[in-house]
This record gives sequence, C-alpha cells and structure tokens, in this order.
Amino acid sequence: MGKIEDIALFDLDSTLADYSKAMERDYNLIKSPGDPEFEDFMENPPAYLKERKYFIRDRPGWWENLERFQKGFDILNIARELEFMIYILTKAPKSHPAAWTEKANWVRNHIPDARSITITEDKSPVYGKVLVDDYPPYLTGWLANRPRGLAIIPTQSWNKDFKHPNAIKYDGTNLDQVRKALEIAKKRTQREPLDLSCLHQNP
Ligand SMILES: [Mg+2]
Repeated sequence: MGKIEDIALFDLDSTLADYSKAMERDYNLIKSPGDPEFEDFMENPPAYLKERKYFIRDRPGWWENLERFQKGFDILNIARELEFMIYILTKAPKSHPAAWTEKANWVRNHIPDARSITITEDKSPVYGKVLVDDYPPYLTGWLANRPRGLAIIPTQSWNKDFKHPNAIKYDGTNLDQVRKALEIAKKRTQREPLDLSCLHQNP
C-alpha cells in the first residue's frame, strides 16, 4: 500500500493557545457585580455578553499575546518526536480580519517548525492523518471526511461528552496513550483503517 503524508493538524484556540484563560481574565476585569459569572459557552447569551466577548478579543494584540496551552504542547512534542509534519489549522472570525494576521504571528513566534498555516472558515475538508482540536463540531466535521483519521482532544469542559472510535482524549496524565495512538496513525498505510481498539479497551 502507498505511503501517505504524515501530517498532523493542530488547532490554535484552546488547543495550543490559551484562549479560554485570556477570555475569562478579561471578562472579569470588566464584569459588573450583577453580571453572570464567566462561561466559555453559554446557551442563548444576552446580546450584551456576546458583544462584550467580541469587544475583548477585537483589541489589537489580543490574539497574538495569548499564552501557550500546555496540554496542546504536550501532544505537539510527541508528534514532533514521531516526525509528523506539523501543520496549523485554525478558524478566525470573519468580523475581525486583524485576527488572521495575529494568529499567523502567534504561530511564527511559538511554533517555528510549523510547515504550513491554514486559516479557514471550514476545517472539515483539510487533509491530515491527525487532527488535534478541542471543539466537537470541528472534530465531527473533519472525521466525517476522514474516516481513517485520528482525532486527539485536549480535554476541556465543553468536550467531556464527545466520543468517537477514532478519537483519544488527553487530560494531562495519559501521554502514553497519546503516543501510542500517534504511533498507530503513523504506521497506517493508505486505505488501512485506523484501529484504536487496544487503547479504548484499556483506558
Ligand atoms: Mg479550538
């Protein structure tokens, strides 16, 4: 069987870059005593809270100054050790074109070995053997197009219920499982299914 390119796609926000921490910090700086407590994802938030989050992240430099998110970097370092090609796959807001530039600058500053940066409005058609991402709708869309792809998910409160036979979660303690899953993906040849059953049976 033919060899396929060993590309690992990495998301930025809440995977490699700590979007959530920065958003909570800045929300609390301008929170009035009667405002609701910070939530990453609120069902039907009032318009003023949505606008407040947009206002926070639209300030010049906000995206470029995000801190690293360690779980994502733990996975990144294993992918580097296994000689995956590191590609960045991130979505940026249509409403704030400067974020596209700031995200590219962030990658150049923090991941100089990234071979390519794709900033997109739809992640699902982009090729990779692996996608590392925190957000279930993006994982679902990508896996629908990549039935042999491997998804690695840095755990966050909003992805705790996500399950898929091709997905492994990383909670900061099970790096050996992440390594094993990446090794299986690396060895997989074209059209060979991804079989993670050994990891799902022995979590
Ligand atoms: Mg994300």
